[in-house]
Amino acid sequence: MINMKMDECLAKNRFDSDDRHPHIIIDPQQCLTCVHKACTRCCPAERYQWDEAQQQLKFDHVGCLECGNCRFVCERLNQGVPGYSWNYPEQGKGIIFRRG
Ligand code: SF4
Ligand code: SF4
Repeated sequence: MINMKMDECLAKNRFDSDDRHPHIIIDPQQCLTCVHKACTRCCPAERYQWDEAQQQLKFDHVGCLECGNCRFVCERLNQGVPGYSWNYPEQGKGIIFRRG
């Protein structure tokens, strides 16, 4: 079995990120009031990180595997409350799997 760090694994794939229209949007300011921050534990690509020093949620849509876990565990993403949205990338954008 090969042990690779997440960033190394993700680098094996190709992403055509749509930076003008991110397919997942969150509001880090509103996330401060979230009591569970389940997104930081459910994402297989580790796109959500809690920065303890800055007391801030960091999120990067680039590298998203489009699995939908965060949409499932985050009620704000799930319900599309203002400041939060989850959509698949536009056709031809997003991840192109090359590994796993
Ligand atoms: S689960 Fe949703 S509301 Fe909670 S910190 Fe994560 S993105 Fe923000
Ligand atoms: S869809 Fe999956 S891979 Fe993408 S950010 Fe959400 S949990 Fe992570």
